[in-house]
Amino acid sequence: MAKLKLQNLRKQFAPQVVPVKDISLEIEDGEFLTLLGPSGCGKSTLLRLIAGLEEPTAGTVAVGERNLNKVAPGNRNMAMVFQSYALYPHMTVAENIGTALKIRKTPSAEIQSRVAEVAQKLGLGSLLDRKPRELSGGQRQRVALARALVRNPDVFLLDEPLSNLDALLREQVRAELKQLFDSQNKPVVYVTHDQTEAMTLSSKVAVLKDGLVQQLDPPRRIYTHPANEFVAGFVGSPQ
Ligand code: ADP
Ligand code: MG
Repeated sequence: MAKLKLQNLRKQFAPQVVPVKDISLEIEDGEFLTLLGPSGCGKSTLLRLIAGLEEPTAGTVAVGERNLNKVAPGNRNMAMVFQSYALYPHMTVAENIGTALKIRKTPSAEIQSRVAEVAQKLGLGSLLDRKPRELSGGQRQRVALARALVRNPDVFLLDEPLSNLDALLREQVRAELKQLFDSQNKPVVYVTHDQTEAMTLSSKVAVLKDGLVQQLDPPRRIYTHPANEFVAGFVGSPQ
C-alpha cells in the first residue's frame, strides 16, 4: 500500500501555463523519490501541490487511504524544506527548530529534549543559542532540516535544499542527508536539477519534462536504460 499517492495531478495557472500536466506517482515509507528535471519543468509546482500550497486543477493527493485535497497545508503533517532555508531571523536556532512543536502546544520540557536530540544529530548542538545571521549557509540549511525532522512528519518534501551551498559543503551535507533520511522510514520527495544528487540520494528517480514524467526508475537504470532521447540527453552517459 503506497503511503503517498498522487493520481493524475494537474495544475493550470493560465491557458498556456500548465506546469504539471498529468502526474501519477506512488511513494512508500522509506522510499526516496527524486524529481529531476531542468528549470521550469514543474518540479516545485508538483511539490507545492503535494504540500497543499497550490490547489490542483485536477487529480488527487492522498496519504494512505486519506484524500488530502480538502486538507489545509498545516493539517497535512508534511514537512517541507526550501532552498532559501526560510528561517525566522529573530529566533534562536533552538526556537527555529522547535517552533512547529510550540504551535502544537507540546510541553516545553519535551520540546527542549527533542530539539536537543535533533540538533545533536545534525551537528548543531553547540549553536542552539545563535541567531540565523550568526550561522554559515551550511549551518542554516541544517537548521531547516532539523526543523523538518523534529516534527516527525508523515512525508518529507525537499525543494533543492542544497543548491545555495558551495560545492564542497554540498557534497558534505548530501552525505548527511542520505544517512538522515535512510533512518527515517518515511516517504521523501526530493526536487533537484542536479543529476549527481539524484543518482546518489534516490531509491527512485522521476525525470520530468514539461509537466510530465518521462521515466520513473531506480537511478542506475535511468543511466543504463534511458527511456527516450530527452532522458539520455539530460542525465548523460554512464560513468
Ligand atoms: P521548476 O521548479 O521545475 O523550476 P516550477 O514548478 O517552479 O518549475 O515552474 C514551472 C512553470 O510554472 C514555470 O514556467 C513557472 O513560471 C510557472 N509557474 C509556477 N508558479 C506559478 C504561478 N503561481 N503562477 C503562474 N505561473 C507559475
Ligand atoms: Mg523549482
